[in-house]
Amino acid sequence: MENIMTNRLDRGFYMYQKEFEDAAIRTLRSGWYILGNELKSFEEKFASYTGAKYCVGVGNGLDALTLAVRALGIGEGDEVIVQGNTYIASVMGISINGATPVFCEPDEYYMLDAKRLEEKLTDKTKAVMVVHLYGHSADMESICAFCKKHNLKLIEDCAQSHGSFFKGKMTGTFGDIGCFSFYPSKNLGAFGDGGAIVTDSEEYRDRIKMLRNYGSSVRYYNDEVGVNSRLDEIQAALLSVRLAHMDELTKEKKEISARYLEKIRNDKFVLPKIAEGSDHIFHQFVIRSKERAKLIDYLNDKNISTIIHYPVPPHLSKAYEYLGIKKGTLPITEQYADEVLSIPMYNGLTKEEQDYVIKALNEF
Ligand SMILES: *Cc1c(COP(=O)(O)O)cnc(C)c1O
Repeated sequence: MENIMTNRLDRGFYMYQKEFEDAAIRTLRSGWYILGNELKSFEEKFASYTGAKYCVGVGNGLDALTLAVRALGIGEGDEVIVQGNTYIASVMGISINGATPVFCEPDEYYMLDAKRLEEKLTDKTKAVMVVHLYGHSADMESICAFCKKHNLKLIEDCAQSHGSFFKGKMTGTFGDIGCFSFYPSKNLGAFGDGGAIVTDSEEYRDRIKMLRNYGSSVRYYNDEVGVNSRLDEIQAALLSVRLAHMDELTKEKKEISARYLEKIRNDKFVLPKIAEGSDHIFHQFVIRSKERAKLIDYLNDKNISTIIHYPVPPHLSKAYEYLGIKKGTLPITEQYADEVLSIPMYNGLTKEEQDYVIKALNEF
């Protein structure tokens, strides 16, 4: 068997090759490359896809998070509660603004554990950032109730959850601002960097539109020190193509994962679970094993690639040494970092490849 990668982006391109090429050429020939009609049209379509009122395209997922935190007026001296087991970008979105990330342990679904939020609350807490990690939607009922009770802002990191629902409502539409990444490997991926925020608030929409473009809403009149973070026309045009196929792309990933869940039988692993009321679009299919190093080598010998999402939890990374959080402080987060493993999962993964992965895992 040819090497099976954890994620293969060319398959997703060839599925709709003609449409992608037509959209790219149309944009190239238009003579307009930044902040034009392709972006406007994508923003409208993506807002409507999520069910939010507004969408603002930005340069990447980190900028979406950073600008969301800033637009909510959170900065120096403020605390934001975020789950410990996330990609470090969630945490950077908070700390770049001068605010302090406060880490909360995840539950058995790898989601922010709503039962532990109360113990993280201080008089400096201004917001909660929830991450719908791997594509599973967090318990938004409990998290929204907590935020409402304590008058906190809510930011959703949806970089891995495009199209994932919680009780019929799409992730990104529960909080004040939902933040998305269109990094190529994400479920809605561009062909370069890209990101967006969605919101129902006109105020936050206008603020982020201004901030993404040097703090300017009228050309060459700058009201604030902003940033340059725009979703360019070519990426917007290509994203519109993929967005039109999102339902079938999501369905395909759910089918692959359903097959994995049905056929992988080995008590040496913990398979992913889906909480009641939650949805899972399987951005990643993450298993857990106490013998991870052995498992990685074993699968490698069979030409099956795997990735660890993520080997170092943010609180133990060098970047956040300054917070002074010791190893052992977040035992569940740390255990997950030692045991999680993502197996091949992408649009276009053939049945033959799936069966090969299943057989290898069952024989470990
Ligand atoms: C990918 C990702 C981001 C950052 O997105 P970029 O577009 O790479 O900046 C943020 N949060 C999570 C959970 C992610 O997976």
